[in-house]
Amino acid sequence: MTDRFLAGRHALVTGSTSGIGLAIAQALGAAGASVIVHGLGSVDEIESAQQRVRASGASNVRFLPGDLADPTAIETLMHAAGPIDILINNAGIQHTAPLGEMPPQQWDRILAINLSAVFHTLRHALPGMAARGFGRVINIASVHGLVASVHKAPYVAAKHGVVGLSKVAALEYASSGDRAGGGVTINCICPGFVETALIEPQVRARAELHGSDRDAGIRDLLAEKQPSLRMTLPEEIAALALWLCRREAHNLNGAAIPVDGGWTAS
Ligand code: NAD
Repeated sequence: MTDRFLAGRHALVTGSTSGIGLAIAQALGAAGASVIVHGLGSVDEIESAQQRVRASGASNVRFLPGDLADPTAIETLMHAAGPIDILINNAGIQHTAPLGEMPPQQWDRILAINLSAVFHTLRHALPGMAARGFGRVINIASVHGLVASVHKAPYVAAKHGVVGLSKVAALEYASSGDRAGGGVTINCICPGFVETALIEPQVRARAELHGSDRDAGIRDLLAEKQPSLRMTLPEEIAALALWLCRREAHNLNGAAIPVDGGWTAS
């Protein structure tokens, strides 16, 4: 049976209607947390995500909306969420194009959702975590928070920003709480390629470029960047996020942990 070490803890997972966020929401739920599911999606998609988190064993599940491109909507979301012990900043978008052809609107939107939204949720959540002596923030950055790739100017800029912002937050809140209570930590997980909808346009573009099928498109993407030649599964990222929520992770703080099959090792 799963260790219910998060019983009594309240978690908000942004962008948990699909992909990595949904897998993390399920893992937190299985460990006994009450979980706020958040993100975009059709009524059916939102209902299905909530059902999956409920089925994982979460003590309580509710959905809150909020377009993270809009700071006022984030304010409303954070007030509706109430006191949060575990904040997973996961929502994110991507748009690929050469820098000279990148639409300025895409720059603004990616910076707003992938970076500024993290600042806004942090400034709401961290003071309460410090006052209660326990808090876990896990920002799903990216390998692109550590290194660059062509055609991803706003994404790389935003994810490097998330890594830097997380380090500032870690320094400012490092002395909150104590070992017995678990303290307050802020870390980033930096995945390489993970099998979700986010990377489908890149997979399709590769397949089309070589006139091949989806599997060959995936192989081509991995061969260029991810030495393991294996995709990561969302539930594998979730397992790491779950461990970071444990009390004994109290001194793992301000880190940017790559899960990238060796991509950033060279
Ligand atoms: P996904 O597209 O499956 O999930 C993205 C989530 O963000 C969805 O729930 C979506 O509704 C939500 N979202 C998007 N725009 C939003 C907005 N304006 N307001 C509120 N919610 C919004 O993608 P994913 O791969 O699970 O991505 C999750 C995170 O992981 C992202 O931050 C992404 O940058 C990061 N990441 C993904 C990969 C990968 O290979 N898939 C690699 C590294 C990092």
